[in-house]
Amino acid sequence: MENLKKELLNLNEKELTDLVVSLGMKKFNGKQIYGWLHSKIARNVHDMTNLSLKSREVLAEHAYIPLLNLLNHQVSKKDGTEKFLFGLQDGNTIETVLLKHKERITICISSQVGCPVKCAFCATGASGFERNLDVHEILNQVYTVERRLRNKGETINNIVFMGMGEPFLNIENLIKSIRILSDENGLNISKRKITVSTSGIVTGIERLLEEKLPVGLAISLHAVDNEKRNMLVPINKKYPLEDLFSTLVQYQRATNRRITFEYILIKEVNVSQGDAEVLANFIHSFDHALNLIPYNPVLDNEFERPSQKKIEKFYNYLKNDRKVNVIIRGEKGTDIDGACGQLRRRNVTK
Ligand code: SAH
Ligand code: SF4
Repeated sequence: MENLKKELLNLNEKELTDLVVSLGMKKFNGKQIYGWLHSKIARNVHDMTNLSLKSREVLAEHAYIPLLNLLNHQVSKKDGTEKFLFGLQDGNTIETVLLKHKERITICISSQVGCPVKCAFCATGASGFERNLDVHEILNQVYTVERRLRNKGETINNIVFMGMGEPFLNIENLIKSIRILSDENGLNISKRKITVSTSGIVTGIERLLEEKLPVGLAISLHAVDNEKRNMLVPINKKYPLEDLFSTLVQYQRATNRRITFEYILIKEVNVSQGDAEVLANFIHSFDHALNLIPYNPVLDNEFERPSQKKIEKFYNYLKNDRKVNVIIRGEKGTDIDGACGQLRRRNVTK
């Protein structure tokens, strides 16, 4: 039975080598198989043609390469953004988005089914929390899309954990996946090209430091006042702004990496002159980039997007008066609900 077999993509190179050796193969076969799995992204053990037939048979008897079930694929007519709906073995579904910007191809991947953080504006949070994704489910979002791109002579350049879920609440699988994705015997995607987007789980940021994994950070800030942030991003009660701030200072000191801040603009909630001032003060402590994201009304709640005039006023103050490195994030794939963090609204098949 498939489900008693080992899922090969859950194993790092050491674990894979241990398995292979326990099945009577040589240590170097571990490295070979790892390359088939993560660099050549084979779909089947029998594709591993430099292994003996016997070895392939033994391996296939004890282990398999799990795959995702592509349930739906949409391409934006406006900007080519692609959205993939994948089915998991247990019937849950997740979404992955592919964004193209000139020559750069970025994949936006999910880390959980649903999300327990339950931000007040977020469709993923509102859909509840089901479970963490396995390593193979994280990797396979990348691998499935990369196979399709390779057929066209293209390749993924950047990975952002900005799909469904809070990556730092699935920290072990997140770290293992990042190590495999950046492994030179795998896809070899530089850690500089991998970004983790977080609602501000301080312990997760600290863990990256301990692990010496200097990936990019995108902080979903949305308010620079604890009371307001508690309402928008409830995890702020556990990790208040002061703690987030000092951890980020530490992260930047250790990694020298620019930190991206995400700030959703919500009418009459976080777009006053006072909000802009405290935001500028906060952000100027960092080598930063600030993305303003006009709220996308995906939920039946009282939130609305501010007027264009209000958005521009907020932006102009930050940009011109305070010299913040700010952009209003261009919306991609709006015709397919493809914007990161706003996934799985129409396509819930459960
Ligand atoms: N959990 C992580 C990553 C996934 S959410 C995090 O919160 O950072 C990805 C992004 O989508 C976040 O910046 C989130 O704030 C944003 N987002 C969620 N719902 C949105 C909405 N309705 N309109 C605009 N942006 C939204
Ligand atoms: Fe979770 Fe991010 Fe959505 Fe908040 S914005 S509920 S952390 S996915």
